[in-house]
Amino acid sequence: MNIVIFGPPGAGKGTQSKFIAQKYNLFQLSTGELLRKEIKNKTELGSKISSIINSGELVSDNIVSNLIEKFISNDIYKQRLIFDGYPRSLAQVRNLENLLNKYNQKIDLVLKLSVSLDTIKKRISERKTQEKRLDDSEEIAIKRFKTYEDSTEPVIDYYKKSNLLKFVNGETTISKINVEISDLIDSIKGWH
Ligand code: AMP
Repeated sequence: MNIVIFGPPGAGKGTQSKFIAQKYNLFQLSTGELLRKEIKNKTELGSKISSIINSGELVSDNIVSNLIEKFISNDIYKQRLIFDGYPRSLAQVRNLENLLNKYNQKIDLVLKLSVSLDTIKKRISERKTQEKRLDDSEEIAIKRFKTYEDSTEPVIDYYKKSNLLKFVNGETTISKINVEISDLIDSIKGWH
């Protein structure tokens, strides 16, 4: 099963993706984490993208597409991916469709975690203390929320037209969200 998970920054995409990956033996493909790893490892790509990430803007489509193709093309992960942070724009939706077609795969479920801006601000200030993400200042969090609304909300409208999209209330507790997502996954028959 391939899953796409959406939600504004601080919605709990990463936490929920890790949980689903473990429970259903899937692989969490977090483009944000892959990009942060490049910065941490001081690679050439990392130095190119660090200012973009720290300003809350999106990295170029090509860079992210090359990163995800490595996983989509690898048989180990075939039909076992959770896309956490991709696609983030309509151009990326088209690119993902092309890549999945190329490697004979498809999306089975699209999850959207809905959370208010107030909750996001609160969560991000907590996460900043725990994880020290440079893009987690309140100002950048608001910028990332805005980028999400401008670029990613149209993507959700696109998936609304398919029957793959399911909404999850991201305002409740981590464990309640776990249960809601598990129920949605379990309700998809015949994917094992
Ligand atoms: P995230 O961890 O998903 O919140 O991503 C952190 C940052 O990485 C984003 O604010 C973007 O700068 C960059 N990023 C992650 N995924 C993408 C993507 N699909 N396209 C472009 N930039 C991305």
